Amino acid sequence: MQSSSYEDLRSRLLSRAITCEAVVRYYLDRIESHRSDNIYITVFHESALERARALDRKLSEGGTPGKLFGMPMAIKDNIAIKGGRLTCASKILENYESVYDATAVLRLEQEDAVFLGKTNMDEFAMGSSNENSAFGNVPNPFDKTRVPGGSSGGSAAAVASGLAMVALGSDTGGSVRQPAGFCDIVGLKPTYGRISRYGLVAFASSFDQIGVLARNCDDAALVLGVLAGNDGRDATSSLHPVADYAAEMATVPVEGLKIGVPKEYFPESLNPDVSRMVKGKLSELRDQGAELVSITLPDSEYAIAAYYILVTAEASSNLARFDGARYGYRSETAEDLAAMYVNSRTEGFGREVKRRIMLGTYVLSAGYYDTYYKKAQQVRRVFQDRYREALEKVDVIAGPTSPFPPFGIGDKTENPLEMYLADVFTVPASIVGMPAVSVPLGFDSLNLPVGMHLICNFFEEGKLLGIARHIQRSL
Ligand code: GLN
Repeated sequence: MQSSSYEDLRSRLLSRAITCEAVVRYYLDRIESHRSDNIYITVFHESALERARALDRKLSEGGTPGKLFGMPMAIKDNIAIKGGRLTCASKILENYESVYDATAVLRLEQEDAVFLGKTNMDEFAMGSSNENSAFGNVPNPFDKTRVPGGSSGGSAAAVASGLAMVALGSDTGGSVRQPAGFCDIVGLKPTYGRISRYGLVAFASSFDQIGVLARNCDDAALVLGVLAGNDGRDATSSLHPVADYAAEMATVPVEGLKIGVPKEYFPESLNPDVSRMVKGKLSELRDQGAELVSITLPDSEYAIAAYYILVTAEASSNLARFDGARYGYRSETAEDLAAMYVNSRTEGFGREVKRRIMLGTYVLSAGYYDTYYKKAQQVRRVFQDRYREALEKVDVIAGPTSPFPPFGIGDKTENPLEMYLADVFTVPASIVGMPAVSVPLGFDSLNLPVGMHLICNFFEEGKLLGIARHIQRSL
């Protein structure tokens, strides 16, 4: 029943060798047998089957199948599906039900995708290990003592464990790419504005993007093609025309490809296995006719600092709406209005979310705004210039997705700074808003997945996925 690609599943569905219902039943059974992995927060047992049966009827009645006909998908639990629970893996939204659909969800539905359920994540997408979930950890599918990455840890584990064919995640600083790297799958964060954020619960609005987690680049491109495009409900969604990604991917040659290799992406501290595997792949590409260009991206060491100032500032403002009055959890212990706000937030938010609200409030406060927030905005601008300049000289910038392979559960929970460093290579593309992907490189000496990270210029998703596909195919 497992298909290695959607194309394969689709041809079996359209030739009626199998039914949508049988496929969905198979996935739901698998989800049930993997319950202890905690990958899904909510499973749509009934509605998924109902939907599958409706699709089967549509086909037998001669209806035209959509582009994603019968594709079994998982949705990160910070993306709204009308009438479904939307928790953001937070106690504060534990029983909250969405009253509308995200634009991304509507577009998938219009093309006949099937939603199996909502996946576990770090609370409000803040984290790199899925350990900040109010609903518990998710083990890495390749080593249950380790983390799957975060914050889209549930989505990555679902795809890697065969509990969904494709999953949506969200990526603010690496939350699609880093877990994809940790789970041996493809994770794409498109250009900022490529996919509507309407219905994605905001963490840091000028960084947040919905992204796609899939087993291969073709599936990712297909789903991106459905999701991409302007949306009147998101003022930051782009008017840039949507490309034919499959066609663009087919035109990317390895021969003559200029791959920028920044020395800053290979620091002394880089895990030796990760370094060896990424460099090995780069040499292979060179042997196939690509040109490796040494580049330098000065000031890369400020990426993490600038990122955590800017996203905490935005988060402190975005999360103000969770006040016990308008959404979700309300404390029962409060005696007056002020205490109701304070207690609801104190009891409803987890540790990391509170840390970020405090940090963000601090960097925006009157005395510190210029020193921290304004400075970080200036750094963001410098990064944009540097990456633009670099991509005038090369087609793509390559490096590792993460400085280390999946780490042990609990290893970094007491040291937030170390946890933040997990994003050191994914954060720059988020700061500049360029598209980036993590593509699997295989397994290290401990049999843990390692990913390679690629960044292209704005709206070059087709080219980006074309290069990624070469890398994945040559494995
Ligand atoms: N790990 C990063 C953070 O905690 C990225 C999160 C994300 O991309 N949503 O901010």
